[in-house]
Amino acid sequence: MNLSEFGRRVAHLRKLKGWTQYDLARAMDMSVSQIRNWEGGRKGIRPKRLLRLYEVLGVTPAQFWDMNLSQKELPLNKSPVESVPEVNERQRAVRCPRCKSIGNNAPDEGLLYCYHCGYPMYNICTGEEKHVNSPIARYCERCAARTVWSMTEDELAEIGIPPYEADERSTDSNE
Ligand SMILES: [Zn+2]
Ligand SMILES: [Zn+2]
Repeated sequence: MNLSEFGRRVAHLRKLKGWTQYDLARAMDMSVSQIRNWEGGRKGIRPKRLLRLYEVLGVTPAQFWDMNLSQKELPLNKSPVESVPEVNERQRAVRCPRCKSIGNNAPDEGLLYCYHCGYPMYNICTGEEKHVNSPIARYCERCAARTVWSMTEDELAEIGIPPYEADERSTDSNE
């Protein structure tokens, strides 16, 4: 595999879908720095994960490698395929769903937002009461307001959740 060609394809398709690197990282359940490594041609991808990437981007392998693929040919799905964050018994994310920070369960278990990137650690609703919902809920089970984990980065910005700041803190493991 030509790494820089692969990286260009990833970046191109991601942008065609209107996704940020974040959205893709989230859909793939990987860190943003790993996505950057792909797009920058610095790292390859394992075959199994490549299949998952096709699935997440909504393309066939042939489409993935087709330089002339246009937006029209892509599925309309604009929102990231979300992997459901793993939560503890109190419905709190075990790792930040956005930056994948770990170890922030203690000492302040009740912290509502990720100490690292500001992302909500519970799938709270955007209503006044900030009800805590199950990880898959897109609308509040009690007041029908949107839930934060179903929102795009742009929508989150509108309600005051800070955008993710790039950070080279290495969460790279590539397994
Ligand atoms: Zn975070
Ligand atoms: Zn609510």
